[in-house]
Amino acid sequence: MHFTDLGIDTRLETQLAHQGITQPTDIQAHAVPTALAGHDIFAQSKTGSGKTLAFLLPAVQRVMKQKALSKRDPRVLIVAPTRELATQVFTQLRLLIAGTNIKAVKILGGENFNDQIKALRNDPHFVVATPGRLADHITKRSLQLSGLELLIFDEADRILDLGFTEQLKMINEQANHRLRQTLLFSATLDHAQVDALSRNLLKKPKQITLSAANEQHSDIKQTLYLADNLDHKEALLEHFLKQDDVGQCIIFTATRADTSRLSEALNDKGFKSVALAGDLTQSKRLEIMDSFSRENFKILITTDVASRGLDLLSVTHVINFDLPKHAEEYVHRIGRTGRAGFKGNALSLVGPKDWASYIAIKSFLNDELVFASVEGLKAKFKGIKEKKPAAVVKTKKVTQVKKPHVKRKAKPKKPVAPIKAPMNIDGDSPMRRKKKPEQE
Ligand code: ADP
Ligand code: MG
Repeated sequence: MHFTDLGIDTRLETQLAHQGITQPTDIQAHAVPTALAGHDIFAQSKTGSGKTLAFLLPAVQRVMKQKALSKRDPRVLIVAPTRELATQVFTQLRLLIAGTNIKAVKILGGENFNDQIKALRNDPHFVVATPGRLADHITKRSLQLSGLELLIFDEADRILDLGFTEQLKMINEQANHRLRQTLLFSATLDHAQVDALSRNLLKKPKQITLSAANEQHSDIKQTLYLADNLDHKEALLEHFLKQDDVGQCIIFTATRADTSRLSEALNDKGFKSVALAGDLTQSKRLEIMDSFSRENFKILITTDVASRGLDLLSVTHVINFDLPKHAEEYVHRIGRTGRAGFKGNALSLVGPKDWASYIAIKSFLNDELVFASVEGLKAKFKGIKEKKPAAVVKTKKVTQVKKPHVKRKAKPKKPVAPIKAPMNIDGDSPMRRKKKPEQE
């Protein structure tokens, strides 16, 4: 099948061929004609399956071929949860519109507001944005959406997780006219919060579900290793990084502080790694991602800020130094490898502190997780037995994952965070920030 068979213009097809892209992926084959026919879309397909082009192609085609509703307002708005992802989508868009007179701007948190006002005055056809800053521009009326034709949410569920519900409502209301078309994409859209959102945003959407959120990714080999403590995790990590088949590698830690600490520890051992630490400026963050994508260094250490959407084809290994608290994030983290048909490996270290997360992920993935061990580095920790119901009855906080008892010196225990703790990994300001961001 060719892109032109999907109704895509030969000019765009030629542009794709320059990038070595000749055959549509499944999600593109389904979503492109549906979007071109004017339907709203609710689409879920695996990490690395080509969702970006599935929404960019019909959007660009529309701007190229159809008359605008408004000469001044943007015609297409693409919202992504993180600055890194918005930047990546923007880069991909720029390639598609190279040589045309289509104008696109990127509106990210952490960048100069006045420069963005100037860029918006230039009447761009496309705006690619993170939600917080976008809402600021709407409030200050530097961005009008009454002529918007196409509203696209990439990783829509993550935008909600980050607490941007109010901003989404505002965007929706600003661009609320009969002719607006809305597209929602992610690898994990099947939870209740998204359902509620899509009822508000989408009109008679066509649902394109090419895989369940918890379905195994056939190109990613997932293995878990029990670990006793931090030193043991570091020893295992060192062992993995010495293997010949490791190309580029992304290591996920629980907190931003851990990224820097682990990076220093690895650099001391002679592994060249860079931490995408939280206190970095926006330009430094993007510079690190750019440098990693050019393969200037092999190991990137990060938190969930880089779990979504980032497309780096030479990443052979994802290592969860700590497990994520949200089961969906596990799916997205490991999805940084095994992209576009390449094979990838996901290794996860599971210590006593990771056990509650492990149980949540295991149940989300229907138990399909395999443990292995490294000779000479076997763990004494064998997992934690589930407590008998009688012991659990005493707690009233039924919404929280109960952390099982671990034998070690007693310290007052903090409750484990609720599975859906809102975070603000983007640095924008969600209006409804319930709690201090936890992971970033
Ligand atoms: P997703 O958003 O589903 O995780 P992406 O849109 O980031 O996936 O695409 C993953 C990779 O696949 C990117 O490097 C992209 O350039 C590549 N890709 C997309 N469509 C095709 C295609 N039709 N043929 C080959 N590679 C493709
Ligand atoms: Mg994507």
